[in-house]
Amino acid sequence: MFEKLRSAFGSLTKLATHTTISQKEADEILWDFELALIESDVAQEVIQSIVNEIKARLADAKIPRSEDRVNYLKNQLKEAIRSCFTKTQSIDLPALVRSKTTKDVRDEFSPFVILFLGINGVGKTTTVAKLAYLLKNKGDTVVLACGDTHRAGAIEQLTEHANRLKIKAIAQGYGSDPAAVAKDAQLYAQSHKVEVVLIDSAGRIQTSKNLMEEMEKIVRVVRPDFKIFVADSLSGNDALSQAKEFKSFTDFDASILTKADADTKGGAALSIAFVTQRPIIYLAVGQDYSDLIPFDVEKFVEQTLG
Ligand code: GDP
Repeated sequence: MFEKLRSAFGSLTKLATHTTISQKEADEILWDFELALIESDVAQEVIQSIVNEIKARLADAKIPRSEDRVNYLKNQLKEAIRSCFTKTQSIDLPALVRSKTTKDVRDEFSPFVILFLGINGVGKTTTVAKLAYLLKNKGDTVVLACGDTHRAGAIEQLTEHANRLKIKAIAQGYGSDPAAVAKDAQLYAQSHKVEVVLIDSAGRIQTSKNLMEEMEKIVRVVRPDFKIFVADSLSGNDALSQAKEFKSFTDFDASILTKADADTKGGAALSIAFVTQRPIIYLAVGQDYSDLIPFDVEKFVEQTLG
């Protein structure tokens, strides 16, 4: 994963191999670095921020003679990458679920409701099933809501996952109101004391305005505790514009990046976290239910800087 981003940052260590470096040489190396970030699918606004941050750090730098220059530079780069994520506090979703569902027993029971958002084909339905598997393994009870009532096969796909995972799926027919399906699932969970409701939703792009209105309606009707934007890490700047649009309509809480197993670039993670100011909580790394791994900023930083 993420080889391109790693080689982009690796190229910068050239800066450290010269004991003295002219401004012109430094600019050339930074220019190559910018190009490498573009090739890694990092968005322009993010590149500018990283490059400015590195320039500022190097301008102020007083490198102690004894300090290894390569290590010094690597640490500056690590800080520059971290700064894309730092404003996005990490979230432990299973712990968040637990904190609601184990509240004082005298309180009226209410399930933790999670709404999934994203465009068709990004891996949303598969991710709903993976999160259901993860939460079930942690001991939570889960119900799925088949909220994509548009895409042919979507209801059967999610129902099939529910059967395999031995959990319930709530569905109505195609063309029915997704907000009503979501509400049904919430009421079912409430009356059966099911702890978590995972709502799949539609993602047709041809009618973006209707889609956003549909998402807003689900949000109004069920008031989800948590909204997750799902993005395909292979889709580069498209993923970023989708993130911006969903963010402005639904103000989601976190993102999950899918298909990271096939992503050699790695730029989507940086761009989406930076632009949405929301944490990436998981990476989906394959087709199996267990292929959902927590996203860890430190691991990402180490992986990209080698
Ligand atoms: P949806 O339209 O967003 O609900 O997308 P689906 O869940 O139907 O997934 C679309 C395709 O992407 C399917 O073939 C999935 O098996 C595949 N897919 C989903 N997540 C991953 C992943 O993490 N890695 C890989 N390699 N494929 C995935």
